Amino acid sequence: MIQFAGRMKRLGTETAFEVLAKARALEAEGKKIIHLEIGEPDFDTPENIKAAAKKAIDEGFTHYGPAAGLPQTRSAIAAYVSRTRKIPVRPDQVVVTPGAKPIMFFTILACVDEGDEVIYPNPGFPIYESVIDFVGATPVPLQLREENEFRVDIDDLKKLITKKTRMLIINSPQNPTGGILTEDDVRAIADLALSHGIVVLSDEIYDQIMYDGHKPFSIASVPGMLDSTIILDGFSKTYAMTGWRLGFGVMPEDLAKLVTKLQVNSTSCTASFSQIAAIEALTGPRQDVSTMVREFERRRDFIVDGLNAIDGIRCHRPHGAFYVFPNITGTGRRSRELADLLLNDAGVACLSGTSFGKFGEGFLRFSYANSIANIELALRQIAAVLKKQPISVS
Ligand code: PLP
Repeated sequence: MIQFAGRMKRLGTETAFEVLAKARALEAEGKKIIHLEIGEPDFDTPENIKAAAKKAIDEGFTHYGPAAGLPQTRSAIAAYVSRTRKIPVRPDQVVVTPGAKPIMFFTILACVDEGDEVIYPNPGFPIYESVIDFVGATPVPLQLREENEFRVDIDDLKKLITKKTRMLIINSPQNPTGGILTEDDVRAIADLALSHGIVVLSDEIYDQIMYDGHKPFSIASVPGMLDSTIILDGFSKTYAMTGWRLGFGVMPEDLAKLVTKLQVNSTSCTASFSQIAAIEALTGPRQDVSTMVREFERRRDFIVDGLNAIDGIRCHRPHGAFYVFPNITGTGRRSRELADLLLNDAGVACLSGTSFGKFGEGFLRFSYANSIANIELALRQIAAVLKKQPISVS
């Protein structure tokens, strides 16, 4: 029998994939499931991007490329990030990775020592806590509160900073709440990071998916922050390219070299034809992106209004991403129990708030990357199940 390394006990996971597997098993039994658990757009990758990848394959972009990314792709990303964040980014600061996730893994590995503390949003993307634990550091959860629209409470943050704090992770728009940080929030966070010498990992993967006239504001744009910020971004969400595995990080050049070394030691490089398609995504027409974002906004309103009309559920109207994070404490049920009930009895797959950390108790996450017709059906079935089932107080 193989004996596994002790560190594997510290590695977490993403339950979205587990719920998807459970839902698929029910579907295999003939049950109809509405998928509101998935974290990917239900749109197809825009045609111009697909065409660019096909052409790239024909032109021979089917071999290894440089570990940090193709020079033309790094240049296009540097130009895009310079333009969108209004900061001077050089191609040497860009590392292209297979999806944006490796940027979390690689930068935490490269910057955080055993025994260091890392502050991260909770509820938040589960991989942050998992990787912090994995490297032997201490995860310090920063609670995002419903009454604060799931923004960062600066006083809470101040209280969590110690001499051991090495890194702070922020994410706006946020998964799972859809909450966003205002420019004032970001500036206040930057002040704290600068005065305590903390590196900031800024997960900006949803920054093109914002509503109600809100615009992204990157912490890297705050004077002085460029040298201590890692921007994590990618193509998965904005261009509906989750399966292409295409992401990037922007960071100080010395860190980019270390992250490149980690890439050499693990993935070697990102698929070359994907990287050519990335250039088309960044420089080609953006009509499909704006159509998708407009449709998401319509669905957001539909699902928020629908959830608020159900007894026991209260849903904040988020300004970004494609998730809602309703408070379900009024149903008298715990989050996981309700998520299971909805899957089994209502045929609606969603995620328990606790899949995003301990402060997710009392909430569920629904993704509205699904049609209005399906969302409407899901809402009806949820309401029916909650009416039928007696409240269980635990
Ligand atoms: N960051 C956040 C907040 C996410 O929600 C996700 C994906 O769900 C990622 C990063 C990872 O994206 P990718 O699929 O490009 O690795």
